[in-house]
Amino acid sequence: MSATTPALPTRVRHLIVGAGFAGVGAAIKLAEIGEDDFLVVEKGNDVGGTWRDNTYPGAACDVPSQLYSFSFARNDWSRSFSAQPEIFAYLQRVAAESGTLDRFVFDTAVTEAAWDDTAGEWVVDTTAGQVRATNLITGSGGLSEPKLPDIDGIDGFDGEIFHSARWNHDIDLTGKRVAVIGTGASAIQIVPQVQKVAAHLDVYQRTAPWILPRHDRTYSTIERLALKHVPGLQRAYRSAIYFGRETYVPGFTRFPQLTAPAKRLAESNIRRGITDPELRAQVTPDFQIGCKRILISNEYYPALDADNTDLVTDRITKITPGAVVTEDGTEREIDVLIVATGFHTTDQPIAHHIRGRDGRSLAEHWSETGMASYKGTCIAGFPNLFQLVGPNTGLGHSSMVFVIESQLAYIIDAVRTQRQAGWPAVEPRPEVQDAWNADLQRRMQSTVWSAGGCASWYLDDHGRNTTLWPRTTISLRRLLANFDSDKYVITERTAR
Ligand SMILES: Cc1cc2nc3c(=O)[nH]c(=O)nc-3n(C[C@H](O)[C@H](O)[C@H](O)COP(=O)(O)OP(=O)(O)OC[C@H]3O[C@@H](n4cnc5c(N)ncnc54)[C@H](O)[C@@H]3O)c2cc1C
Repeated sequence: MSATTPALPTRVRHLIVGAGFAGVGAAIKLAEIGEDDFLVVEKGNDVGGTWRDNTYPGAACDVPSQLYSFSFARNDWSRSFSAQPEIFAYLQRVAAESGTLDRFVFDTAVTEAAWDDTAGEWVVDTTAGQVRATNLITGSGGLSEPKLPDIDGIDGFDGEIFHSARWNHDIDLTGKRVAVIGTGASAIQIVPQVQKVAAHLDVYQRTAPWILPRHDRTYSTIERLALKHVPGLQRAYRSAIYFGRETYVPGFTRFPQLTAPAKRLAESNIRRGITDPELRAQVTPDFQIGCKRILISNEYYPALDADNTDLVTDRITKITPGAVVTEDGTEREIDVLIVATGFHTTDQPIAHHIRGRDGRSLAEHWSETGMASYKGTCIAGFPNLFQLVGPNTGLGHSSMVFVIESQLAYIIDAVRTQRQAGWPAVEPRPEVQDAWNADLQRRMQSTVWSAGGCASWYLDDHGRNTTLWPRTTISLRRLLANFDSDKYVITERTAR
């Protein structure tokens, strides 16, 4: 796609960063209301974001595809939990059919974006030059920047090493001794695939996740035809999945006793997948279910139980040129090291590169308060900045595409309002933003993420949960339905 990349204009009305679900959705929604003067700047070579980058064997969504897709761009999904190639192809198709791709610039990273208060616009530096923009819409991803573990000696490892989100397909794992560090969402999809081909597999676990059975299946031809052609069926199916998932929320946020059936199901999943009692004990979490992301798999436990796999729960102390060493002194030799240690979540890289009205970066602002915004989207001191998948918009139970669409409705209404009223700049009032975050943190106290007895990537260095939404997504959608301009500081200046 990079072949069609346009030259950078010097000025646009809206500059969108990133071309994942968020960036593609923003482009489509802006075009729909006739706001055609926009540019999408993407550092990768294609659309897709998460689904372009995570090509590891076994990569698939863990929210059913019918819900993990745009409501306005249905698809003929082949199965309930689609694999990465199908989701990636979906995003490529949706972007191509939208007719907006001529405004996407690939292989170009935004390196700095600073608010110019005199001109009333963003000055955005990219690896391909500078662009000025009235509005900056970031869709740079909450799980986009791989996080590497800080382990003594890791740089001196002589074998092959790669992160799950940067899979090296040139390496054939057949007959190799492989180690996987991590037991999160990506790791549990990778481990069964590697176990099938590796001579030996060591899985390094710091914390055992709760894992529920995965009800994945291929749709029959009749089901696919019905979903495609019977009016309203796909929408009804999607709604059923959506409301089914919303029923998890009370258990996560207020009534932890409601999660008891899920815990029993997860325990039976362990018993079904693992025969060895000692291994069963090692994979049984010691915290409340839901505190860390609940995962789904039917294959992970049997892969751990296989003869060629060892689960290692001792802490890794160092990595030598040919082995992983744990605190009990054991040295396990390996050929390939797969790092499945997740992403930068509470320290988003883009935050270091966006400078607000006072010249300080978002990261500098957030170093004092933790990540904070108004409605996960707009930030005091950062005029005309709209952040998709911003602070406290993550979900533990449902589709992030639903969140993105909810935010897009709010941003589009803001853009429309701004245009109609001739307002050059809007930013949330600081006291409104503070009240919003105080309310979120108050609600957070009773949630399983705060009180469930686990450390997780949901929490920042101050122990605050600045990643998850602590209410139903029904309320999120309602709160983001209209741009509430009375909560904003409006800059009075003649519109350009
Ligand atoms: C393996 C995996 C599985 C997942 N499964 C699910 C699931 O089943 N359900 C669910 O709801 N969520 C899931 N997620 C979360 C997922 O990230 C979101 O659902 C969704 O894809 C986020 O879309 P996005 O556009 O906000 O971000 P991304 O898809 O991460 O896209 C961000 C884009 O911004 C680009 N970018 C970043 N910085 C810059 C810059 N400075 N300049 C230019 N471009 C930049 C990146 O290259 C990337 O293309 C999963 C995540 C991972 C990693």
